[in-house]
Amino acid sequence: MENDKIILVLNCGSSSLKYDVIKMPSRESLGKGLVERIGNEKGVLEQKVKGQKYKIEERIEDHKKALELVIKAITDKDNGIVKNISEINGIGHRVVHGGDKYASSVLIDDTVIKAIEECIEIAPLHNPPNLIGIKVAQELMPGLPQVAVFDTAFHQTMPPHAFLYGIPRKMYEDYKIRRYGFHGTSHRYVAARTLELCKRDASNTNMITCHLGNGASITAIEKGKSIDTSMGFTPLEGLMMGTRSGSIDPAIIGYLMDKGMSAQEVMNTLNKKSGLLGLSGISNDMRDVEVAALDGNKDAQEALDIFTYRIKRYIGSYFAILDKVDVLVFTGGIGENGWEAREKICRGLENLGVLMNYEANKGIRSKETIVSHPYSPVTVMVVPTNEELQIAIDVFDLAFAA
Ligand code: ADP
Repeated sequence: MENDKIILVLNCGSSSLKYDVIKMPSRESLGKGLVERIGNEKGVLEQKVKGQKYKIEERIEDHKKALELVIKAITDKDNGIVKNISEINGIGHRVVHGGDKYASSVLIDDTVIKAIEECIEIAPLHNPPNLIGIKVAQELMPGLPQVAVFDTAFHQTMPPHAFLYGIPRKMYEDYKIRRYGFHGTSHRYVAARTLELCKRDASNTNMITCHLGNGASITAIEKGKSIDTSMGFTPLEGLMMGTRSGSIDPAIIGYLMDKGMSAQEVMNTLNKKSGLLGLSGISNDMRDVEVAALDGNKDAQEALDIFTYRIKRYIGSYFAILDKVDVLVFTGGIGENGWEAREKICRGLENLGVLMNYEANKGIRSKETIVSHPYSPVTVMVVPTNEELQIAIDVFDLAFAA
């Protein structure tokens, strides 16, 4: 069709590059892939098109080489996604941190690049590879509209009483220390999809969206706007996660440093060795922890209890800040697939109006489904997230749907 546009969605990490080729406005994924071990001796690209797998293994010295391989894979004669790279009409980039500069996605120009560069200070791990992805795409695919989609943007509607910490104001003014929130593209996507599925309008709908993956966050959404979210200045705050501690008493950090750990060691422990992994001693992966718990492993059982208890506590607090809650939404690898975790979280929330249909919930994996009783005051839903699709929608809306 003449109005069809093909969008390349890029998610550039420090040593990986995820991509998805999506046709708009039909929202059809034509094929996707992942490049890993960029900069290592042996890199790998794996692409999946209509169930067919295609793999390239060779040294991938940098992100430029990675994108060159992506272009090669996308246009491969036998296993490709498009015949010619000129069929790609626009590019969307996941960018982790937009600071307080961007409350929505933007067409990339020099000013946007400068703003993303300025955010490196508060997102030193994430923004540099995101920027490299943008620059390499501009170099290898010049002339195409490119859009930046920020993880933080959706949460820019939070009021000061939600985003300011109780620390000297000067720290906010001098160092921009505040709650930014992350996973915004996912929360925004599932919120919009939930409205579509429930045939509801944002103006009279409040919801709580739980993105429970390896990273996990929860957001209170009032009339379509994020009014609070569990992640903060960094993605370490809030819920307990696969390897991240979530919120702890900040005094613990000073105490451990007094005991001889460096700041870097403490942060590494809280980011990479805590959460489900740290408490269970088994794995950061929910499936492994669930298997161990079923086998009678007490530490694994406790790790699950703590994981779900904390989510429940957040849900309760978000009920308190929203006038009313219409929908409670589960997404992310655990939220979509882990029906046992969903049940554990929702048990005991009956007095808040959450009447889950445990039979309907059982076994539901990655499927848009209502898992509450029809008479439940709060509708409970499973809505698989699709951040890549949301990015493609944003590119289409900004570059082509004027
Ligand atoms: P990421 O944050 O890395 O994108 P995902 O959203 O893919 O992570 O979620 C990964 C988590 O989802 C892992 O903890 C994994 O165990 C969990 N998960 C995947 N499938 C299931 C399942 N069937 N039951 C329970 N948990 C699951």
